[in-house]
Amino acid sequence: MNIFKDALSIFSKSAINSMELYSMRDKILYWNESSNYPSYNIIPDAISLSSTFWTRIKDIHRYTTGDGYERAVTVWWADIEFVITDYVKGSSDSVNIPKQLINVMYKPTTRRDYAERIVTVNGKVYSRHSIAWTKVKKNLQVQYLFNLHTHPCVQGEYSFFSLTDINTFLSSNTAITGLITDKLWLIFKTSATPKSIQNANELEFSPSYFKNNYYFKVYCAEFGKKLYCVDILK
Ligand SMILES: [Zn+2]
Repeated sequence: MNIFKDALSIFSKSAINSMELYSMRDKILYWNESSNYPSYNIIPDAISLSSTFWTRIKDIHRYTTGDGYERAVTVWWADIEFVITDYVKGSSDSVNIPKQLINVMYKPTTRRDYAERIVTVNGKVYSRHSIAWTKVKKNLQVQYLFNLHTHPCVQGEYSFFSLTDINTFLSSNTAITGLITDKLWLIFKTSATPKSIQNANELEFSPSYFKNNYYFKVYCAEFGKKLYCVDILK
């Protein structure tokens, strides 16, 4: 079944409320910090990611496909850009993310008006940019947004989120979590999402089960394309 095929034939492109993940960053930070999650209909029906973001997603998918081990990355907002940390390698059915250290610093350069902006992740240089001192913000903002992890393909099939994935997600105050199979899945908590779940059977887990039982807003994207809420992919 190609769940994407009919999406745009049912909804005209203009009817779909779409946003760049970039422009949602302040909202995501607010949801994370306040544990005050949005109502289901407030979150847009489609979300787009930058090409740099997709490159990293395709990379970790390729690593997992290569050896069958899960990978995880964390996504941060550092001042003016998304930072996607180096992947953490797990086993064939789980991956734990250790504490990540993200740092932003500005150093003088030979040009008096310009600074070099250096972002490091766990002590390793992640990005370097030249920036005018006048544009350097006084308050640096380095904040955790969400994590993404991969599941390997086992006997031709990818498993969906596991019970452990969901329990970890619900016990955190993060509003979003993501799964990379041969697609990208993002799930958002909403104001109706329970704080914990009991007697769940992960064999029942599916996008519609998540929506009906946990009030998650579930998005799916083919690599490199826009994320669509599964409601409009039916
Ligand atoms: Zn998982």
